[in-house]
Amino acid sequence: MIHQAMPDQAAPARSAAGDPALTDALQRIVGPAHVITDPAMLEGYVADRTGRWRGTTAAVVRPADTAEVSAVLACCHDAGAAVVPQGGNTGLVGGSVPLHGEVVVSTSRLTAIDNVDPVGRTLSAGAGVTVAAAEEKARRHGLTLGIDLASRDSATLGGIVSTNAGGLRMIRYGDTRSRLLGVEAVLADGRVLTRWKALTKDNVGYDLPGLLAGAEGTLGVVTRVLMKLSEPAGETAVALAGIPDVGEGLALVRALEHAGLIIEAAELMTRDGMRLVGDHLRLRAPLDVDAPYAVLVEVSGPAVQQDALLSVLAGRADAVLDAAVEHGPARRLWQYREAHTESVGVASSTPPVKLDVSTPLSRIEAFLGELGPGLSEHFPGVRPVCFGHFADGNIHVNLMDVEPAQQEAITDHVLRLVARHGGSISAEHGVGRAKLPWIALGREPVDLAVMDAVRGALDPARMLNPGLFHWAAAAHRGGDGAVLGRMLPG
Ligand SMILES: Cc1cc2nc3c(=O)[nH]c(=O)nc-3n(C[C@H](O)[C@H](O)[C@H](O)COP(=O)(O)OP(=O)(O)OC[C@H]3O[C@@H](n4cnc5c(N)ncnc54)[C@H](O)[C@@H]3O)c2cc1C
Repeated sequence: MIHQAMPDQAAPARSAAGDPALTDALQRIVGPAHVITDPAMLEGYVADRTGRWRGTTAAVVRPADTAEVSAVLACCHDAGAAVVPQGGNTGLVGGSVPLHGEVVVSTSRLTAIDNVDPVGRTLSAGAGVTVAAAEEKARRHGLTLGIDLASRDSATLGGIVSTNAGGLRMIRYGDTRSRLLGVEAVLADGRVLTRWKALTKDNVGYDLPGLLAGAEGTLGVVTRVLMKLSEPAGETAVALAGIPDVGEGLALVRALEHAGLIIEAAELMTRDGMRLVGDHLRLRAPLDVDAPYAVLVEVSGPAVQQDALLSVLAGRADAVLDAAVEHGPARRLWQYREAHTESVGVASSTPPVKLDVSTPLSRIEAFLGELGPGLSEHFPGVRPVCFGHFADGNIHVNLMDVEPAQQEAITDHVLRLVARHGGSISAEHGVGRAKLPWIALGREPVDLAVMDAVRGALDPARMLNPGLFHWAAAAHRGGDGAVLGRMLPG
């Protein structure tokens, strides 16, 4: 089901967004060329890549710097026009799509990389710089951004901050929030908030950059970021191993650490997912056995990695069913993992339902063990493909061939199972529109009320991304009929 713009109580219509006087005013701020109103050109801004979310907007505004973002937001605020911030539009939960006619503020011109400080190991850059461009710049100084995801060529620094992206290297370098030292952001009324200290230790007051990280554009428009850089891995080696169960995958990761190797990445795939990628890319099966699961691990460290990796694998020969090993970057092996999203999209007869969740490590096996049979029983015909950064407890549950009428019920089924296993309904993609009705499965009523108060303090009129984090829409009935979460005024 494609979610179209439709009036609802959560996001009151802001008719001012289509007001010609507002368009004129925005053009005076950023120049006529940077206020897009041509329907053909708006197309790329009003729909997301999953095909699940499509909205409308009267205008996409592309400011050139923080001062212009500030003037644009003040102008929209005074006109009563709501705003959706948008970076690379690679988000997977519908947060960057203007579902209610909001003005889109795009960061596509905030692409200056101001500075790399190789001594302090920081990078300061505009929010519209892509992850790939920031990484390339960092590498020129022998350093790494530490955040990497398959959407790297389009996803922006402002986007990864606003979703607190995890990604392929989180096990090694942490999530985006942990790498964010400073931020410049424009609040809903146009005021500019700057917390910009290239310090690892700075305990003066609340962690405001940390608060903006993961706020999904509801607290401010991030315009510049100060990111921590790290020493990149030297020589690396990659193994793709067929294993009988998730427990063996975790045991393998532990054994590699025990051998003194540094885990650069650890990814889980299933037999079905491997087949899907093989069919889509016309690749030969990388292993001689048809194992139920495959793990991809990339390691570095002072030891001669490939030898150390081989010796750990040999030591677990009774459990590891087969393995292929390559020197890093091992793009041939990595493509089995990185092509999952694309392969799922191509193979599904309907836009796939993507549920990015996490469970405690000790519960992954039980969660997956219940997920498959439960889906077969209640949703026959739906094909699940699970993969993800499993050593962080993160599984991307991708559901193919879900009929539009089944979407809500199947999401409910999976997210309740996650909650029963003590997990999180959003590991790294955010809540967006996709999971809003289930947010109370992940947060207590007082927690929701505190978050609502924070938002109210910064944006009392809910002008920024009004369709998100709207707790009134979040109250959800439990299986026993109990309301989970409390209705809050919107
Ligand atoms: C192939 C593929 C692989 C992916 N892999 C991963 C992965 O491994 N890990 C992961 O975490 N995610 C992954 N993603 C999801 C996505 O790339 C991330 O969520 C990314 O951080 C979004 O960045 P963006 O610039 O595209 O943001 P957008 O999609 O434009 O926006 C995402 C959200 O952030 C807000 N936002 C964007 N920019 C700003 C800003 N400057 N100020 C305030 N709010 C803003 C938007 O309003 C929206 O709510 C993947 C996506 C794809 C398509």
